[in-house]
Amino acid sequence: MIKHDVVVIGGGLAGMRAAVEAAERGADVAIVSKMHPVRSHSGAAQGGINAALGNREDDSPLNHAFDCVKGSDYLGDQDAIEAMCEDAPRQIIWLEHRGCIFSRLPDGRIAQRPFGGAGSPRTCYSADVTGLVILHTLWEQLERFKVKVYEEYFCTALCVEDGVGSGVVAYNLRNGELELVTAKAVIFATGGLGRMYAKTTNGYASTADGLGIALRAGLPLMDMEFVQFHPTSLKENGVLLSEAARGEGAYLLNADGERFMFKYAPNKGELASRDVVSRAEWTEILEGRGVEGCVLLDLRHLGREKILERLPQIRELALDATGKDAINEPIPILPGMHYAMGGIETDKNGATRIPGVYAAGETACVSVHGANRLGGNSLLETIVFGARSARHAIDHIKSNGQVRPSEKTLKSEQDRMSEMLGRSRGERAPQIRKRMNATMSKNCFIFREKTQLQQAIDDLRETREAMKSVVVMDKSKTFNTDLVGTLETQFLIDAAQCVATGALSRTESRGAQARTDYPERDDTNWLVHSLAWYTDSAPRMDYSRKVTFTKWQPEVRSY
Ligand SMILES: Cc1cc2nc3c(=O)[nH]c(=O)nc-3n(C[C@H](O)[C@H](O)[C@H](O)COP(=O)(O)OP(=O)(O)OC[C@H]3O[C@@H](n4cnc5c(N)ncnc54)[C@H](O)[C@@H]3O)c2cc1C
Repeated sequence: MIKHDVVVIGGGLAGMRAAVEAAERGADVAIVSKMHPVRSHSGAAQGGINAALGNREDDSPLNHAFDCVKGSDYLGDQDAIEAMCEDAPRQIIWLEHRGCIFSRLPDGRIAQRPFGGAGSPRTCYSADVTGLVILHTLWEQLERFKVKVYEEYFCTALCVEDGVGSGVVAYNLRNGELELVTAKAVIFATGGLGRMYAKTTNGYASTADGLGIALRAGLPLMDMEFVQFHPTSLKENGVLLSEAARGEGAYLLNADGERFMFKYAPNKGELASRDVVSRAEWTEILEGRGVEGCVLLDLRHLGREKILERLPQIRELALDATGKDAINEPIPILPGMHYAMGGIETDKNGATRIPGVYAAGETACVSVHGANRLGGNSLLETIVFGARSARHAIDHIKSNGQVRPSEKTLKSEQDRMSEMLGRSRGERAPQIRKRMNATMSKNCFIFREKTQLQQAIDDLRETREAMKSVVVMDKSKTFNTDLVGTLETQFLIDAAQCVATGALSRTESRGAQARTDYPERDDTNWLVHSLAWYTDSAPRMDYSRKVTFTKWQPEVRSY
């Protein structure tokens, strides 16, 4: 049995930031990760991380907070948003003091670029490889504190004893053994759910594991219907071209060569919030002004020097996939599935409803993004709430120091796995996953409507049934990726059901949820969070959690 005071599940930015905070405070902390931490999807983040440093223009945490509230279409909890924006400058300095190399202004201060929906340029960056640079900075800190990392360990279940979180069960990919990882506090930092869709900007490991595990342990998922479609992903492979391109001044053009965004967002144009830009692009395409089913991202006027200095990776990604050089040619792009605003419900300290269980990063819903996230705020969320959840986990341990090894959870996971491996006939997970991907991409996309959403729900119910007799063909013990892929598919279906059911139940349009049959925002009935609870068939929805307001009342949202 593995035993630590604090166990963090996931080695992306949220997980590493949590572990470093715990280690700095002297706690016995370990990371359990299904892959090496620096391969986490956080490393793909390009554009930057927000903080009101005010290095280019006057700015303040309060301005930042207002932009988030407006960006969230008034669904974000304002106390959590204020806490995040207040802490942001401190966290950037913290990273800088630990060796994170940010791009600079000529006078040496940290440079900041404009991003969508932001009133001032406040996105700090390292060229267009920001996530990777921060990830390596945190990895060095893990090494410095000699934090134990269990890599190639796949967490399958949360242990709860006497109503308190007491560890997890993890599958050791190297030898095929299930192991009990006992802890006094558990922090989930398992990242996103992009692989629910056929095309996504997310890595192959973004498979909603933490969400499925939390649901099955009796925790609700919050605001799951809000899925972000990023305005600029490559048609060929769904790979992201960062908002940094538009931040640096790139245009969006339709087939007529028109900068169409000003029809939809007269003040902000290309730098309106992502939900607005993606809907505008899709409308242009649907109304016949697309170019072979795409619109164009045009960087040519930025000039070779600026592109090579600030956006080198974007140029390379586009060149690799399309053969087009952004220096000379516009790049065809589409809105693509990018980010989950919803996740495991937490309070502003990362605490869930089970004492001793916390969540941070993309898998959590602290409610700082509400119905739509602003670019640059997710990296910030991982850093702020990674650290914050670790601090509160340590406080929890002080008053709750008991170790409660959960042999019964280990046993039930062993039984579940042997049953799955014991089957020799049935459908395999990749086929079932394809059906889930197809229905989510077709019926739960940018614009939504009742009949399609009901179809998605029916299809997902069928996939859940099919998973009951799924067969894992590979029976081997070392690196059984067939088994892991099957478990991931199950978690994705759990989470997809919450997305589709939440989207059907919410009869309004707000942020990323655009219902063609309910086109208006409805503040009278829908200023509430959605909570989805696990049942054997479809999730049970609950709307008892109200939005927290501090300073800003809902207003008409325009850019
Ligand atoms: C291409 C791309 C570009 C982006 N650019 C930006 C940007 O510029 N600015 C911004 O603010 N945001 C950006 N985002 C969003 C942001 O990068 C992510 O939301 C954020 O990095 C997520 O971090 P995380 O730590 O929560 O999860 P991840 O970095 O995804 O890490 C998840 C970790 O959990 C582990 N894990 C998962 N399941 C299990 C399991 N069952 N058992 C054990 N371990 C498990 C994985 O091994 C991994 O280590 C971008 C996202 C993408 C996809």
